[in-house]
Amino acid sequence: IQNERDSQYIVSSWAKDHYHGLLLKTEEGMGVGYGYLRERGLNLTTIQTFELGYSLDQWDDLLKAAEAAGYQLKYLEKTGLVVQRQDEQGHDTGRRYDRFRGRVMFPIHNISGRVVGFGARTLKRDDKMAKYLNSPESEIYHKSDVLYGLFQARQAIRQEELCYLVEGYLDVLSLHQGGIKNVVASSGTSLTEGQIRLIRRYTENVTVLYDGDAAGIKASLRGVDLLLEGGLNVRVVLFPDGDDPDSYIRKVGDQRFAAYVEQQSQDFIAFKTTLVAREASHDPVKKAEAIRDVLHSIAKVPDGLKRQVFLQQTAATFGMDEQVIITEYNKLLKAAP
Ligand code: ATP
Ligand code: MN
Ligand code: MN
Ligand code: MN
Repeated sequence: IQNERDSQYIVSSWAKDHYHGLLLKTEEGMGVGYGYLRERGLNLTTIQTFELGYSLDQWDDLLKAAEAAGYQLKYLEKTGLVVQRQDEQGHDTGRRYDRFRGRVMFPIHNISGRVVGFGARTLKRDDKMAKYLNSPESEIYHKSDVLYGLFQARQAIRQEELCYLVEGYLDVLSLHQGGIKNVVASSGTSLTEGQIRLIRRYTENVTVLYDGDAAGIKASLRGVDLLLEGGLNVRVVLFPDGDDPDSYIRKVGDQRFAAYVEQQSQDFIAFKTTLVAREASHDPVKKAEAIRDVLHSIAKVPDGLKRQVFLQQTAATFGMDEQVIITEYNKLLKAAP
C-alpha cells in the first residue's frame, strides 16, 4: 500500500512528465513555451537536464489528463496542482481548475531527484499577472528546505568545493548551461537555515551572486549574515545595476562571465566595505556605522580563529588600529550579546 507522501510524489512526477511532453510534443508547447525558452537562450540539453515543461493555456488540461490516467483528485489538490474554486463567501463550489496555465514549468527536485513542486513563469507581458507562481507547501514540499537546482548541482559542488547561490530559476539554468554547474537558487524567498544546512552537506564555501539591484543587494546582506552564522565561508559578487547573473552571462558570454566572477568575488568584509564606499566614502559617521556593521557580522562567525583573522582584516581594510577595532568589538559584544 502506498502512503500519503508516496502518492504525492507519484502524481508530481506524472505532472512533470505531462508538462515536459506538452512542451516538446504539442503545437502550443513548441510554439509558445519552447519558443520562449529558446529566446532566453536555453538549449534542448538544458531543457532536458532540468526537465522543463509547459502548461497549456486552458482551465483543465492537467485535470482531465489526470482523470484519464486514473489519478485521484485528492492528490492533485494536496500538491496544489489543481485548486478548488471558491465563491464570494469563500465556500467551495465543487469546481476545480489547474493552478498552472500557459506557463513555462520548472520542476523542483529534492536531493534524491524526486519532484516535490513547481515554479512557473508566465509568458505574458501583463503586469496584473504574477510573473512567477509556485506550488503551495505540501507534505512533500517545504519551500524553506529546498534549493532549486541542487539535485543537478550536487556533484559539481563537491568537486569544485564551492556553491554559487543565485536568486532565480533562469540564473541557475543559464549558468549551468554556460558551464558553471555548481549553482543553486533560493527562488525568491530569503535564505533559510534549512537551505543553509542543505548546502553544508556538500561544501563550506558559498559565493553569493544576487541581482545587481537594490533588492538583490539587500538580500545579499541578509543572506551573508545567515551564511556566516551557519559557519560557511562567504564570498560575494556584485553585478552592474539592472543585471542579474542570467542577463549578464547572456550579455558578455560564458568566458567573460567566468572571468568577471573570478575577479569580482570578494569576501564579506570587502563586500560591506565596497557598499559603504559606494554610499559615502568620506563621511566619518557613515564609516563608523559601517565598521560596526562589519563587526556585527564577524560576531556571527562561530570559529574563533576566523573571527580573529576577520578583525585584523577589518582594521587593515578601514585603515584603523587593530586594538581600536578589538576594543570596539568587545564593547559591541557586551552591549548586545
Ligand atoms: P526573469 O529573468 O524570468 O524575469 P528573475 O528570476 O530574474 O526572472 P526576479 O524578479 O529577479 O526574477 O526574481 C527572482 C526569483 O524570485 C524568481 O526566479 C522567482 O523564483 C522568485 N519570484 C519573483 N517574482 C515572484 C513572484 N511574483 N512570486 C513568487 N516568486 C517570485
Ligand atoms: Mn531581482
Ligand atoms: Mn532574470
Ligand atoms: Mn533576477
